[in-house]
Amino acid sequence: MTDPSVPPVAVPAAGDRRRAPAPAHLRFFHGPMDCGKSTLALQVDHNQSRQGRSGLLLTQGDRSARPLISSRVGLSRTAVDVDAGTDLLLLVRSHWAGGRRVDYLIVDEAQFLTPGQVDQLAELVDASHVDVYAFGLTTDFRARLFPGTQRLLEVADDVQRIQVEVLCWCGLPGLLNARVVDGAMVRSGATVVVADTAPTPAPGDGAGDDSGDGGGPGSEVHYQVLCRHHHVLGQLGPTAAGPGQLALP
Ligand SMILES: [Zn+2]
Repeated sequence: MTDPSVPPVAVPAAGDRRRAPAPAHLRFFHGPMDCGKSTLALQVDHNQSRQGRSGLLLTQGDRSARPLISSRVGLSRTAVDVDAGTDLLLLVRSHWAGGRRVDYLIVDEAQFLTPGQVDQLAELVDASHVDVYAFGLTTDFRARLFPGTQRLLEVADDVQRIQVEVLCWCGLPGLLNARVVDGAMVRSGATVVVADTAPTPAPGDGAGDDSGDGGGPGSEVHYQVLCRHHHVLGQLGPTAAGPGQLALP
């Protein structure tokens, strides 16, 4: 696919890899909420950095002053918070311009990427031999693919469903995310809303809002992982009052 007579865009190659360009890959790991995506992202980063490689970690929706990729099991690493307007080619190029190597990218919350940003990741892989590891949710609360997820499924070199099993309250494997507003499952609203750990956004914040019930100000919104059967029925189980999968006995 690479024509050697055509220089790869304006993005410089990454340090040592320019001399011995090894094939890089775009890998996508996906699953429902609480399946351990961020934990796996941090493990991949650890494994890569132990080999002397230099990585850049990206996340989305972290509005804190010091964005993190953090896992449910207590690990965390600082990350760069990106949004739908971030040019990922420029972002990586600016790191190179500052003399910092970027051999690989860890992209958490990859479901929120725009299709164009996923294509930018593919370009970094093909033209600049940066390995990309993307981690994201498979489907939104309506059981539809997120746009970023769909594009990653289309173009990634390697796609893996994360095997850590999240269970529905009934004991079956949980594959789908339910949005719960004030104790009831909802099926319409903005594609992208508040996670249960995020602050409530201002009205109109959040892409794809079709002004359904995403939970108005003051509403309690959280997500619960359900099996397909109970997602279809909208049944949250006997202990639906708590935050579902995160509740510990
Ligand atoms: Zn179930």
